[in-house]
Amino acid sequence: MKVGIIGAGALGLSAAYELGLRGHETHVFERDSFLGGQASTFDVGGGRLERGYHHLFRSDTDMVDLIDELGLSPKLHWIESKVGLFHGDRIWNFASPKDLLTFKPLGLLDRFRLGLVTLYLQKTKNWRKFEGVTARDWVEKRAGKRPYEVIWEPMLRGKFGKHYDEVSMAWLWGKIFLRVASRERLWEREKLGYPIGSFAEIFEALDRRIREMGSGVSLSTGVKRVVVEEGRAAGLEVGPPGAPPELHRFDAVIATTPSFVFTRLVPKLPQSYLDKLTGVTYLAAVLAILVLDRPLTAKYWLNIADRTIPFVGVIEQTNFVDPSLYGGNHVVYLTNYPAAADPIYRMSPEELLEEYLPHLLRLNPEFNRSWIREYHHHKVDAAQPIIGVNYGQRIPDNRTPIPGLYLANTTQIYPEDRGTNYSVRLGRQVARMVLEDHGHG
Ligand SMILES: Cc1cc2nc3c(=O)[nH]c(=O)nc-3n(C[C@H](O)[C@H](O)[C@H](O)COP(=O)(O)OP(=O)(O)OC[C@H]3O[C@@H](n4cnc5c(N)ncnc54)[C@H](O)[C@@H]3O)c2cc1C
Repeated sequence: MKVGIIGAGALGLSAAYELGLRGHETHVFERDSFLGGQASTFDVGGGRLERGYHHLFRSDTDMVDLIDELGLSPKLHWIESKVGLFHGDRIWNFASPKDLLTFKPLGLLDRFRLGLVTLYLQKTKNWRKFEGVTARDWVEKRAGKRPYEVIWEPMLRGKFGKHYDEVSMAWLWGKIFLRVASRERLWEREKLGYPIGSFAEIFEALDRRIREMGSGVSLSTGVKRVVVEEGRAAGLEVGPPGAPPELHRFDAVIATTPSFVFTRLVPKLPQSYLDKLTGVTYLAAVLAILVLDRPLTAKYWLNIADRTIPFVGVIEQTNFVDPSLYGGNHVVYLTNYPAAADPIYRMSPEELLEEYLPHLLRLNPEFNRSWIREYHHHKVDAAQPIIGVNYGQRIPDNRTPIPGLYLANTTQIYPEDRGTNYSVRLGRQVARMVLEDHGHG
């Protein structure tokens, strides 16, 4: 059969690859001029860097298996993570359970409770019991108010901005439960994965394989409309903005766009399905990327537990992989996940830099703006769906009410935190679903 796919991110490319392996033809249409969607890259110092920081956990087995299938395993390096927490005007080590024991801002009893609660979450498999309660209520009750405020609230704010106290405990469970899988033993230091050469290596390899199998990938070719004939998905109208649409006929269509984009591409859907699509709130990611002539901190991942600082995380890529990958430069992301109405989202790149720069002195008193060789600014819309309580009941089915039309996007990843691994998993699953529904199972 012939399947049209909207979007050349991790999900769309994985779906096309899976369909190709099973002998079917696909065509992937991507609005942007590059592959990879949210995990796409740009050039820095002769190397390639993700627009938003990316790494893998040991639990990301679908992605690790795909990397292996594509013959890229030698490029995937597992590197000890250097994680810190900025609290009380200093950087604390926060990479291992031992670091928690020596974390002085919490009293002994609080540290002990926190350790026990973390262990409990790591050992609990039945996450359903956490669905109806917010992470804030659950953690405050079990670990105490102070541990919540010092450790967990900054982490939730780091991901969900002002919506931090709406987030379901099921989401937080997913973070803790899966994260421990990144350690071979509980007391060991965590290792994170990175494909040397960037995530673009994976997307380019997928693109090559898809084409070798006789299918197509078109960049800078947005989908304008899903064509529905006699109640079934029959094709896609595609083309650059302003140009007359070109019709491509398909037996089935898989859309991987955010839900609010999907609603604009299709005829009116039944209200109950539409409500699920419009009921999700997305946050954007805003990234200020500094290319420096020397390191800013000694950490790869620094959570900012200080609300007077206007960014929530500092991710220093070159404390993870070697600066030689970026021409000897040191690369630092300053990150936020704002809603579209937030001033941080609306600021120009220059305004954002001026807002952020004074605060870098608190992380490193020697910092000087003369260290900056380049500055880049990226916004990723629809970067993070807000996962509220009882979220599981509001997830739209992959099979839409229009036969032959499938939706697969980050809002359907639950209870795990969305990530490239889960897009690969969902892409391959939905490809198999399409085949089953069309008698090729
Ligand atoms: C700042 C940040 C940090 C992250 N860190 C990590 C990490 O460390 N590890 C990890 O695994 N994951 C991470 N993620 C998450 C990960 O990037 C995403 O979960 C994953 O890339 C989503 O892939 P996708 O294909 O499902 O969606 P997307 O990447 O959003 O792909 C959808 C594609 O559809 C295209 N599209 C939209 N509308 C149209 C249209 N009308 N026609 C044609 N094409 C269209 C878009 O341009 C896009 O390319 C991070 C994300 C962000 C934003």
